Amino acid sequence: MVFLEYIHSFLDLGYNVFMSFQRTIEDFRCENCGFEVKGSGYTNHCPRCLWSKHVDVNPGDRLAECKGMMEPIAVEQKNGSYIIVHKCIKCGYEKKNKTSPEDVFDVILRIASRPKP
Ligand SMILES: [Zn+2]
Ligand SMILES: [Zn+2]
Repeated sequence: MVFLEYIHSFLDLGYNVFMSFQRTIEDFRCENCGFEVKGSGYTNHCPRCLWSKHVDVNPGDRLAECKGMMEPIAVEQKNGSYIIVHKCIKCGYEKKNKTSPEDVFDVILRIASRPKP
């Protein structure tokens, strides 16, 4: 019995560690418009102006050295949802990000209606 409990507590711990890797919850101030962004763990961009920051090599890892601002250059529609294409103004790195429910829809539409760069 004791051994089983040990196994269970080990599994719980592993699960929590796994979850914290999946979700990096952090609040940040948007460096483009100054909006205080409440981190949900799922969004990495400002819901007001949709700018992001080049902080990830892989989603959520925060390992990028660049730290450049990432401009929303285009919006793609896929299966009824919107994907923002971010481009780093410092190094030119491009990355696609899902929109989040908090994003201001008018801003998404404004970028979507822009001519493709
Ligand atoms: Zn912003
Ligand atoms: Zn960059």
